[in-house]
Amino acid sequence: MRRFVDLHTHSTASDGSCRPEELIALADRNGLAAVALTDHDTTAGIEPACRAADAFPELQFIAGIELSACYAGGTMHLLGLGIDPAAPAMIEITRKLLQARNERNPKIIEKLRAMDIDITLAEVLRVAGVSNGGMGDAIVGRLHIAETLRRKGVIGSIDEAFKRYLASGAPAFIDKERLKPSEVIAAIHDSGGLSVLAHPSQLNYDNYAQLERVLQELVHAGLNGVEAYHSSHSNEQTRLYMELASRFSLGVTGGSDFHGMGKPDVKLGHPRVPQAGITEPFTALLAP
Ligand code: AMP
Ligand code: ZN
Ligand code: FE
Ligand code: FE
Repeated sequence: MRRFVDLHTHSTASDGSCRPEELIALADRNGLAAVALTDHDTTAGIEPACRAADAFPELQFIAGIELSACYAGGTMHLLGLGIDPAAPAMIEITRKLLQARNERNPKIIEKLRAMDIDITLAEVLRVAGVSNGGMGDAIVGRLHIAETLRRKGVIGSIDEAFKRYLASGAPAFIDKERLKPSEVIAAIHDSGGLSVLAHPSQLNYDNYAQLERVLQELVHAGLNGVEAYHSSHSNEQTRLYMELASRFSLGVTGGSDFHGMGKPDVKLGHPRVPQAGITEPFTALLAP
């Protein structure tokens, strides 16, 4: 009987380094009971992942997505789990976000070039695995730009690329078009999915009362759950977010946020998330 799940992963459909099929095979080799693919802003990996999962009867596949939204404190990430990628609401929101990225990436490159950094959009697209001239439907983002800078020896590590150039507040940062949390949650619900506040530790809050206020607003917008288990959370944080979920009558989920080579310290299936730790309403996504 398999006992652990991973409900937050990325593939080459966004900025992960494993193809969706590879991710599924890796999840099975890992002995996971369930894996959710939650690429940034795209559902393109879901179909191939779902097909690949047919070969692994002991592994359950959950279709998901990770979407960004803006709030008073900055950016938050929301996961949609159990979504239908063909739902009109999902098609519409992903198209909007793709367009925003296609406008943003050239601006980041321009800023870097203005700082005398030798980098081109074509190079970034190659790193992102986009072979045809245009950007097409591929999700290209800051992690691809960071990796391009690393390969060219401009910086020594991905972390350094974010700190020096790409992070919010750094000189080559360009904001994306951000949706409101309520819009993102509505699109997830309209696509048949459940919404989750991803890695709450990455929210910009100074104290517990502030965090509660953010959560209260999300609950008001229909939030279903909190990602209590995450590779960036300490055990103490995991406990805190579980408590918070319980207090707001929200479900608990968890996952690694696996990206493959782009974040080599994050392993698929880690932290260990017991299937028994996933609570209602998310239990409906998991076979007993
Ligand atoms: P984007 O969607 O283009 O804004 O890029 C988001 C990606 O960049 C996600 O994979 C994030 O985990 C990653 N990212 C954001 N900030 C950092 C950071 N400081 N260090 C490493 N990766 C980061
Ligand atoms: Zn990512
Ligand atoms: Fe995220
Ligand atoms: Fe993620």
